[in-house]
Amino acid sequence: MERSDSISLRNNMVRLLEQMGIKDKLVLDAMGKVERHLFVSAGGRFRSINDPYGDYPLPIGFGQTISQPFIVAYMLEKLELAAGEKVLEIGAGSGYVAAVLDEMGVEVFTVELIEQLAVEAGRLLGANVHIRTGDGYAGWPEQAPFDAVVVSCAPDSIPEALIQQLTGNGRMILPVGTIHQRLVRVVKKGGEIELHSDLAVRFVPMVHQEGY
Ligand code: SAH
Repeated sequence: MERSDSISLRNNMVRLLEQMGIKDKLVLDAMGKVERHLFVSAGGRFRSINDPYGDYPLPIGFGQTISQPFIVAYMLEKLELAAGEKVLEIGAGSGYVAAVLDEMGVEVFTVELIEQLAVEAGRLLGANVHIRTGDGYAGWPEQAPFDAVVVSCAPDSIPEALIQQLTGNGRMILPVGTIHQRLVRVVKKGGEIELHSDLAVRFVPMVHQEGY
């Protein structure tokens, strides 16, 4: 894709996100910069014939999908991130969400179950993004605590380890459920936990390692 084409596609995408109600400048600016088309076509596989900047999820191989831009923006906005914070992502997939977080100036740690996806994402991500292959149900205990956690796949219930790995004022957003899923926001305030039910969504399942 020509560089100028991808810039105008990204500008259109950001305008649409604003029209859909996204306000966080840090999120909008980062999504205006990250070259989403590279993440959609990584690995040398021809992953999708659709517009990489259209507002829909796209296949990235291995039965997995890159989330639609609106959902990425919505989840990241709800985390109320500030540059310099430490963020854990579960389900790196193509690496797109991690790249947006990196562009926002936070320190990113991301875990992906499927090794080949982790390797391909690692090639596209900046050297300062920490990525590893593993089961996200365990989080990343060696690097905890995190100011925020974003989960890009849906568990049946909120994984306990991820709550434990939040700071005393940490925030987490994740889809929860099987057929019917909802985003849930977990907010810790002085160590106390609040749960807020949010949008209905559809994500790939967060699978247990023995499934692979
Ligand atoms: N944020 C990604 C979305 C990828 S889809 C992107 O921007 O492209 C969700 C990903 O979660 C898939 O790649 C899937 O392999 C991964 N996943 C599923 N269960 C997991 C688990 N238990 N631990 C880590 N990753 C998991």
